[in-house]
Amino acid sequence: MRLSQFHLRTEKETPADAELVSHKLMLKAGMLRKLGAGIYTWSPLGLRVLRKVETVVREEMDAAGAIELLMPTIQPRELWEQTDRWQKFGPQLLKVKDRKEQEFCYAPTAEEVVTDFARGELASYKQLPVNFYQIQTKFRDEIRPRFGVMRSREFLMKDAYSFDIDEAGMAASYQAMHAAYTRIFTRLGLEFRAVQADSGAIGGDASQEFHVLAESGEDALVFSTGSDYAANVEAARAAAPAPRAAASETMRRVDTPTQKTCEDVAALLDIPMARTVKSVALFAGKTFVLALVRGDHAVNEIKLAKVAGLADYRMATEAEIAEYLGSTPGFLGPIGAAKAIRVIADPEVAALADFVVGANAAGFHIAGVNWGRDLPEPETVADIRDVVEGDRAEDGGTLKLVRGIEVGHVFQLGRKYAEAMDFKVLDANGKATVPFMGCYGVGVSRIVAAAIEQNHDANGIVWPTAMAPWQVAVCVINPKGEAHVAEAADALYRELRESGFDVALDDRGLRPGAMFADIELIGVPHRVVVSGRGLEAGTFEYRARSASESENLDRAALLARLR
Ligand code: ATP
Ligand code: MG
Ligand code: MG
Ligand code: MG
Repeated sequence: MRLSQFHLRTEKETPADAELVSHKLMLKAGMLRKLGAGIYTWSPLGLRVLRKVETVVREEMDAAGAIELLMPTIQPRELWEQTDRWQKFGPQLLKVKDRKEQEFCYAPTAEEVVTDFARGELASYKQLPVNFYQIQTKFRDEIRPRFGVMRSREFLMKDAYSFDIDEAGMAASYQAMHAAYTRIFTRLGLEFRAVQADSGAIGGDASQEFHVLAESGEDALVFSTGSDYAANVEAARAAAPAPRAAASETMRRVDTPTQKTCEDVAALLDIPMARTVKSVALFAGKTFVLALVRGDHAVNEIKLAKVAGLADYRMATEAEIAEYLGSTPGFLGPIGAAKAIRVIADPEVAALADFVVGANAAGFHIAGVNWGRDLPEPETVADIRDVVEGDRAEDGGTLKLVRGIEVGHVFQLGRKYAEAMDFKVLDANGKATVPFMGCYGVGVSRIVAAAIEQNHDANGIVWPTAMAPWQVAVCVINPKGEAHVAEAADALYRELRESGFDVALDDRGLRPGAMFADIELIGVPHRVVVSGRGLEAGTFEYRARSASESENLDRAALLARLR
């Protein structure tokens, strides 16, 4: 690429409105332009990096035997009704109507669509196992889109879905994806860790997340130095033995298959109805957290979300709660106990509320607790240790806490989706059977930002080679003034390209300082300077982006260094 014929537009000033270094540098380097909240245009420079990531992901998926297809981003409501997710997915689902008033959503994921495709295509166990994947735009109406493409509303995801005849097959497909992800993040040159994840909300047995380690990461990860135990703190909490005494003591379970009214609850809790009891209900995709609280609503909402570990949530409306619970509006009056909601028995959640209320098929649960205690900081090492250390004592190690950015997620889904969508294949005995699924996501666009969080310095981005926009920049000093220098640079540019390097020729004619600042900012791993003085001495000035000194090398030494 000749930069004189490319569109490179860097900024001198660091954008003030960006918080994370990756967001700042992506804007400063001119990789992104914001169109709206959580919606970005990838500039030609940004797109080069995005495509590099995509290529590595695609190559490793292909190598692992997955088969690429492309599914629509607009998905009909009916499919989502079949799996009961049209409502349950929550407000992240962007719903649209066409001119005939038919309802659709913009794909946040594609379990429904791929299962619909599979049930039309697959009829026999002989066609299994199979793993279909796509690299396609997703949209999630995140409550707080932030940090640029790190948490955007529109983003690029690789999503894969495996189909197997039995559970053992599903486990093998899952392992193959786990291995492919390990190769992807290794090839991309990222420092990462795979951790146990909480698969509770989606269902299924096994689930692991891949995290790029970075201080700025939104997730807290805990791992042991004594074994290969590593988990997302959420998962560690969920797996922790029993709720701590304070909450469990006050936890009451009321076996009732029917309904509860406000009066019933007041009687159970022994509080007068006259007292103002307000409800806080947070709706976070698959999770409802309901708590009866006193005091300032807004403060409670934020605190409750924080300790419940809900990154994106909003207040549920009364109508939504009612719909979810299968009752009429008016929280707690009455609640249909037949529908499942997650009971948050976590004492830290409970500590926020007078009462935490939940219901599932088995009954109606109430935890009455004290109000007004100081909140523990949920993500300190001591706190996490407290939750998981019973568990981990025997491995003899110590628990460490690090922060991570979730860039990949693998799930064993079991038969949930296929069952709901009535998808069966014939097994070896000719019997119709529901296949086992897995799903596997990679946040392709998020990886770009995550890589910068891990690889930057005071002068800008320091790309791992695999995702750099170009591997080598050939910088020409004064190309317009000295024709022979421009010619020599051009010859080197062509020679490097022919040797298989991805090269940018900086023939824009900028002053050296400005040119070098740009090339450093955009993070090109190798810089070669062609100048009149160097040519006289028969050398090129070479500098690795990560090095502090440059060296003068002749052509052969330069080629050897680049290889
Ligand atoms: P998060 O916990 O960060 O909200 P998620 O668990 O909701 O992510 P998944 O449903 O597991 O996301 O989707 C697969 C991958 O897609 C994630 O591992 C992540 O890398 C990426 N991803 C999810 N949401 C976003 C987003 N809003 N912006 C960019 N990438 C995202
Ligand atoms: Mg999310
Ligand atoms: Mg997550
Ligand atoms: Mg996830």
